[in-house]
Amino acid sequence: MENLESQLQGAATVAIVGHVRPDGDCTGSCLAVWNYINAWHPDIQAKVYLEPIPNIFRFLKGADEIEGPKSTDSPKDLCIVLDCGDEGRLGEGIHYFKTAKRTICVDHHISNESFADENHIFPQVGSTSELVFDLIGEEKLTKEIAECIYVGIVHDTGLFQFDSTTAKTMNIAGKLMEAGINFTKIVDETFFTKTYGQNRIMGKVLMDSRLYLGGKLIVGMATQKDMEQFGVQPKHLDGIVNQLRVTKGVEAALFLYENERGGYKASLRSNGKINVAELAMKFGGGGHVMAAGADLKGTAEEIIEKICMETERQLVQENLHKK
Ligand code: 5GP
Ligand code: MN
Repeated sequence: MENLESQLQGAATVAIVGHVRPDGDCTGSCLAVWNYINAWHPDIQAKVYLEPIPNIFRFLKGADEIEGPKSTDSPKDLCIVLDCGDEGRLGEGIHYFKTAKRTICVDHHISNESFADENHIFPQVGSTSELVFDLIGEEKLTKEIAECIYVGIVHDTGLFQFDSTTAKTMNIAGKLMEAGINFTKIVDETFFTKTYGQNRIMGKVLMDSRLYLGGKLIVGMATQKDMEQFGVQPKHLDGIVNQLRVTKGVEAALFLYENERGGYKASLRSNGKINVAELAMKFGGGGHVMAAGADLKGTAEEIIEKICMETERQLVQENLHKK
């Protein structure tokens, strides 16, 4: 895919969709594309369809115009899928993908199987928002677009920390700064600030966390009851698994939180030796080598046992390779 501009040719109606439980990169990349169309092609009818986004991202231009996906909506000329590795993760947004005349996908998930008509998939790139920057082009950048892209990059690189961060990522961040964004505020308000309830549930998860495999795997969990007690929703649990991961000596972190269907969402992070994308894919999920997730059925004990076994298998293989 050369650029976004060429993809928009001939399209009068565009649906922009991302993955379920939108995070910073999903929200940022979707709104960056929306702001691009809004600024440079006001004649095109474009809309972002996503599940409710976390409130911290509401300051981004266009956030208030995001709609929940509806399966009764009319078919669009073009459906742009961002930051989503497979059709299953589109949730209700699948409707726009299935009915559009043409589909494109811009993504960086290693598990992405190029499911759209045209695909722009680069698993080694730290965020979909970084890919969107390239597709938009520096000369068409506005402050509003820059804010969206900065949010996406910051969230998917763990504040320029993960090893997917490259010199190019930093150069792009520099260009976004030059566009006049308030980067300090964005980082403080979307990355560091937590509500009292969020801090307390993180405290509880850390306090009750357990080590497995001789301290190589750390597991934390939050039940529906915990979320009720602290007045938080699943979308407010971001950051907990990263805190588990930085525990000294740990190779991988697993954070489980209960869903309404009696199963658990598993959030996985690695410190390098464990490929958590491979692990998550074994359980029907996906993601990246260092950060991945899956929806799992069964009790927490059963899930922990399965993930422990897979982690151990990878650690044993790693050791064999070394010998
Ligand atoms: P998180 O742990 O922050 O929810 O997700 C980490 C990474 O794994 C993200 O890139 C996310 O898109 C991916 N991921 C999380 N859950 C799932 C899942 O259930 N299925 C797939 N395919 N990817 C997931
Ligand atoms: Mn992403």
